[in-house]
Amino acid sequence: MTQSHNLGFPRIGEKRELKRSIEKYWKGLIGLAELRELAKDIRQNNFKKQAALGINIIPTGDFSYYDQTLDMSLLLGLIPPRFRALLEKSTPEDAVFTLARGASGVAACEMTKWFNTNYHYIVPEFDDVENFKLSGSKIFDETKEALALGLDAKPVLLGPLSYLHLGKYYLGENSHARKLTLLPSLLKAYVSILEKLDSMGLTWIQIDEPIFALDLEQVQKTAFVKTYVQLKAALKKSKLLVATYFNKLGDNKDTFLSLAADGLHLDASDPHSFSEVIALSRELPKEKTLSVGIVNGRNIWINDLSASQSLLQEVKENHGENLLIAPSCSLLHAPITLRHEAALEANLKSVMAFAEEKLSEVVLLSSALNGQDISSEKQANAAILEARAKDPSLHLSAVQDRLAALREKDFKRNSSFTTRRALQQKKMKLPLFPSTTVGSFPQTKEIRIARAKFRRKELSQQDYQNFLKKEIAHVIGKQEEVGLDVLVHGESERNDMVEYFADKLHGYRFTKNGWVQSYGTRCVKPPIIYGDVQRKFPMTVSWAEYAQSLTKKPVKGMLTAAVTMLQWSFVREDQTNKQTAFQIALALQDEVLDLEKSGIAVIQLDEPAIREGLPLRKSEWHDYLDWAVKSFLLSSSQVKDETQIQTHMCYSYFNDILDSIIALDADVILIESSRSKMKLLQPLGQINYPADIGPGVYDIHSPRVPSKEEIKQLLKKAIATIDKHKLWITPDCGLKTRSWDEAFSSLKNLQLAANELREEYA
Ligand code: GLN
Ligand code: ZN
Repeated sequence: MTQSHNLGFPRIGEKRELKRSIEKYWKGLIGLAELRELAKDIRQNNFKKQAALGINIIPTGDFSYYDQTLDMSLLLGLIPPRFRALLEKSTPEDAVFTLARGASGVAACEMTKWFNTNYHYIVPEFDDVENFKLSGSKIFDETKEALALGLDAKPVLLGPLSYLHLGKYYLGENSHARKLTLLPSLLKAYVSILEKLDSMGLTWIQIDEPIFALDLEQVQKTAFVKTYVQLKAALKKSKLLVATYFNKLGDNKDTFLSLAADGLHLDASDPHSFSEVIALSRELPKEKTLSVGIVNGRNIWINDLSASQSLLQEVKENHGENLLIAPSCSLLHAPITLRHEAALEANLKSVMAFAEEKLSEVVLLSSALNGQDISSEKQANAAILEARAKDPSLHLSAVQDRLAALREKDFKRNSSFTTRRALQQKKMKLPLFPSTTVGSFPQTKEIRIARAKFRRKELSQQDYQNFLKKEIAHVIGKQEEVGLDVLVHGESERNDMVEYFADKLHGYRFTKNGWVQSYGTRCVKPPIIYGDVQRKFPMTVSWAEYAQSLTKKPVKGMLTAAVTMLQWSFVREDQTNKQTAFQIALALQDEVLDLEKSGIAVIQLDEPAIREGLPLRKSEWHDYLDWAVKSFLLSSSQVKDETQIQTHMCYSYFNDILDSIIALDADVILIESSRSKMKLLQPLGQINYPADIGPGVYDIHSPRVPSKEEIKQLLKKAIATIDKHKLWITPDCGLKTRSWDEAFSSLKNLQLAANELREEYA
């Protein structure tokens, strides 16, 4: 009999109960006992729910108060030295919160993106590791809970080689070779964990090695083979399942196949990987279990049952009965249930599947392998997919025609940067070291209240508009008071830089409860790109115009660029991301040209997520960067030479994509760099970055107000590597999370620094 299993269920709770309770606990509104009670409820619910849906083998250890990589660090006894004294007497929960959030005078652990998802994990820190040692009991306790419910519980652990890969040495080199010196001690700890789990009478234990999705170095491949011989030897009763996901195996296939495991799980959710899945089903010895991750665990679309069933049939012909059926990866990356989406239009809802619906698909496909007739389900599924493909509201011929008509000139500005710069300078007459900001100003409580009231219809359109106008006037006034050179309207009308635009464009949809964990208690509700994207009406022009009417200084038009719009949404799968990005880019081009027409001289297109979109394998980078750059150019290049295009990037390390950043051909780039102490400037200077640069000199993530001297120091560092005529002065990112006091004082210091430097360098 083929069985179904799952790799992880979202832990945030159907109504984000976990988030709410943890935040209450942080504020001291509830105690630890109450928090533990709620956590237990969520786990029990999730266990029972999965079993009720028909899943045979239920994952454990997927619950977390913050992040499962951090849980793994704690299970291995890895606590960075700066926390050791602090955490000596703390409860496991408080240890998690302290490591993740820091304490007074002790910096939090770093957080970074989990592969190419929008989930963030806490980076293990390897400096000064003494020994890894089995510590704590979380995974064992949670597995016992599932066993007590009479379930076939399967603990899921992050594997040792992925753990090393994802962790980091902050001091000295951070190479794989160096990290691998930790392996012997790490393996001892893993062996103790496995032995303990083995004694619990479990059928399966799963170890995730998602780094099979990446380019592996030879030292890593070699280590894999030896490591799994050791891990397997620790198990006397339970079987070992090794899982990979998020990509094809590619060059890593032989290494994966050679692992000493009783079963292998792979991502079979992308039709492009089908041929590899079939090859594997032939090569894998029949006594080993093949777990087929047939349902995409990280999108929101229904499965193509007919395509999946034929793949599974072929796999079964090759490999025999020894199969498991599952989602491709943990469902952590999907919203929980469609049950609460009463307001979704029927045709959209019919093509969507969240975590619960995905598990039903898994169960159905697995029962088909066991001989159940699913032809009526398949028929219904095919009808829905066909209706979607033909949905007239999805396909806009005007958009299709425009895409088909694109020529080289649509991606190219009229003149070179040098020519443009002279014309822009003639028009705006900016001083040396022009000062500006990245866009948003403090999102005060009053703004949020007004927005909520407007949404609930307690505030009329007119009153809300007037409120926002007052806000804009205030923001313009403050910037004039500081003396900034290029002003912004402050973005008070925006709740979120993607949602604001998505809400106004054709082709986007929203859910009520489609929350996905981003990090810790932070959840996001990504918009859904359902159909062709087109601009329906100007989205920002009236705000920019109004702001400009209040001042003689130039006010920037502010837009979120195409790749970021794409990257922070759930995307279509019936066309390439390149096509979707180009559609968004054209909609933005309309906005850019309208802003220009209404007299806006500077337009900023934010692209903070450009690097996040990089494919997992380097061989695919070129193609991605090519269309990412083109979509920026498609939005921005059709303006007059006199119109200045700015861009902004943050959250990332950019040194390896500098060529592409140059290719954006923006007139000014405002780029996060204060936290890295301007490390970015060296390479930008080296490649002789052609356009103007504003390296952020105020870390807006911190409540601290930087002093004038400090800002001057940073700028002098910049002047040492970059032509002073190209330098702008700006904060690191938007000021939306800061208080007015902090923002205003910081900007004043920033402007004072600019003024003094102007005199010094005139
Ligand atoms: N213009 C946006 C803001 O200032 C940019 C935000 C971002 O880079 N994430 O808020
Ligand atoms: Zn930013």
